[in-house]
Amino acid sequence: MPESTRMSLPCEPCRRCVFHAWQLIDGDELLWRAEWQCDTCAFGAPDTCNRDEGPGPAPGHVRAAVVAAEGTVLVDLRGGGVPALRAVRKVLGTTLAELHAAVRDGYRATPVEAALIRRLVTGSTGAGSTGAGAAAPE
Ligand SMILES: [Zn+2]
Repeated sequence: MPESTRMSLPCEPCRRCVFHAWQLIDGDELLWRAEWQCDTCAFGAPDTCNRDEGPGPAPGHVRAAVVAAEGTVLVDLRGGGVPALRAVRKVLGTTLAELHAAVRDGYRATPVEAALIRRLVTGSTGAGSTGAGAAAPE
């Protein structure tokens, strides 16, 4: 795995610091959040340098942490029409070539990504219900 993501953090985590990362669904958008937690140093304190979050596909090191914690599931994209695939591409930030490969071979998604993709591909927009972002089961 090409994992050379070296973050330029203003301070260093200690050996007991644990990196937590997760993804969330907000409407039809993917969000990610990451933070350090530690019981020995103050690195995990709020309002310090530890917390990070953003919209869209998770950065490589964040996604890697999510995958390490939750694993991946293979999502079948073949049932999706063009609008669905366009939405998937936007959500995941994939290139067109990656999307073609994903349609052919399936896509290795995190559970949260899979839940959102499934919703986009199956187009469960008909009801227009705003069911408050039921997250993927633990
Ligand atoms: Zn620490």
